[in-house]
Amino acid sequence: MYLYNSATHKKEEFKTHTPNHVEMYTCGPTVYHFAHIGNLRSYIMEDVLEKYLRYAGYDVNRVMNITDVGHLTSDADEGEDKMLKGARREHKTVMEIAQYYTDAFFDDCRKLNIKTPDVVQPATGLIPEFVQMVSGLLEKGYAYLAGGNVYFDTSKLPRYYVFNDHDEEDLAVGVREGVEEDTNKRNKNDFVLWFTKSKFEDQALKWDSPWGVGYPGWHIECSCISLKYNGEYLDLHCGGVDNAFPHHTNEIAQSESYLGHPWCPQWFHVAHLNTNDGKMSKSKGEFLTVSLLQEKGYDPLAYRYFCLQSHYRKALVFTWENLDNAAGAYVKLQKKIAALDPNDGTVDQAVFDAYKAKFVQTMGNDLNTSMGVTAIFDVLKAKTNDATKLALIGDFDQVLSLNLLEAAAAFRNAKPAQVIAQHDGVYIVTGEGNPAIDALVMQRYEAKKAKNFAEADRIRDELKAQGIEIVDVKGGATWKRI
Ligand code: AMP
Ligand code: ZN
Repeated sequence: MYLYNSATHKKEEFKTHTPNHVEMYTCGPTVYHFAHIGNLRSYIMEDVLEKYLRYAGYDVNRVMNITDVGHLTSDADEGEDKMLKGARREHKTVMEIAQYYTDAFFDDCRKLNIKTPDVVQPATGLIPEFVQMVSGLLEKGYAYLAGGNVYFDTSKLPRYYVFNDHDEEDLAVGVREGVEEDTNKRNKNDFVLWFTKSKFEDQALKWDSPWGVGYPGWHIECSCISLKYNGEYLDLHCGGVDNAFPHHTNEIAQSESYLGHPWCPQWFHVAHLNTNDGKMSKSKGEFLTVSLLQEKGYDPLAYRYFCLQSHYRKALVFTWENLDNAAGAYVKLQKKIAALDPNDGTVDQAVFDAYKAKFVQTMGNDLNTSMGVTAIFDVLKAKTNDATKLALIGDFDQVLSLNLLEAAAAFRNAKPAQVIAQHDGVYIVTGEGNPAIDALVMQRYEAKKAKNFAEADRIRDELKAQGIEIVDVKGGATWKRI
């Protein structure tokens, strides 16, 4: 496999410390709010990468943290803890917020067919290990105490900016507009390893440490969690491109100083999902979630399809029109697959091997997912029997995870009674196959379309009395039990 490496700025042959085995680490979510679909773009592309590596024969150990402490409102050390902010917003405790949004994150992942990593570690579960690493950094002279906090001393490193050759002034952490400079820092890029109560009085979660009661900085958690579960030699580290600086830069500083040897040679960064107004972010207030896409009638996997259509290193612009196009194409693809006859012939091994080899090569070229999707269309056009085509599609879908065979089978087996609305060729089906309810939902939909609102409301109420709630979706309606 060839993969672009942001540490060297080159596409390189993928190598591992131990043959055929990949130690992989992914920066997990900060669980103070729902993940937005931009965050999930990163997780989708990382999921495809992991699945491709497994498909190509590697044994993968994938580790992810859950940030439930220490991530401040700025990725540098300024502002308050995002978790505390979330707890205040919802009048809940920090741990309640963490549990709720961790569950919500994995729900979203399930809907998007994102596999759960082999190890998932919340930061608050590993405090003694963080304290040990911070102590080690102090002993080795890479850290210092000032104003009650422990800081990493970036001047001790021969090279701090490992990902870029930016002007130091542009990246200076402590001198952003509107942010008070931390006068405890010896160098402007020094960062906090451990905060104590002396500086942040209202922090909800605090632990004892040799430097006073306090809490860890955000960066130390990833160095520590990776060391514990991936070992001293990491092969591949992933995250969104905004993580490269300062977060990943600081992780490298900590891990290599602590270990005394190079740590992770390969870095995979996913470009951002943007809206027409710029980067999608939670601090802007309104943001798009998987649930919102569902409320609007989109299959979450249509969003996965949308992401796969573009390369992970290119910024992707989200518009409803773009998503509509992807959703339409995804359904068309399902219909084409549904038209294949599983009983047409037996798998032609030579054809199977040839198409598979092409797919392996395409995806192995810096994870070219859009060409990977195109490979399915090539299979559909191939001069071979349907059994071979279905076998190939099922095989490719181990990596793409678009539920192609399942969705096609659902189309093939869908009973007319299940179709309660149709929009641009997109059928909205109840999935439960209850013809009586479907018929009423359909009647209400037709009444509303004919602007007969009294009748529409009457049917809505009638269904509500049966514990059924009608959910309006784009171009139609569906229902759920309440
Ligand atoms: P957070 O929950 O803020 O720690 O972010 C979780 C992951 O989403 C990180 O890997 C970020 O780099 C990534 N991320 C944040 N914003 C975006 C975006 N707009 N597009 C793609 N990935 C993002
Ligand atoms: Zn991280």
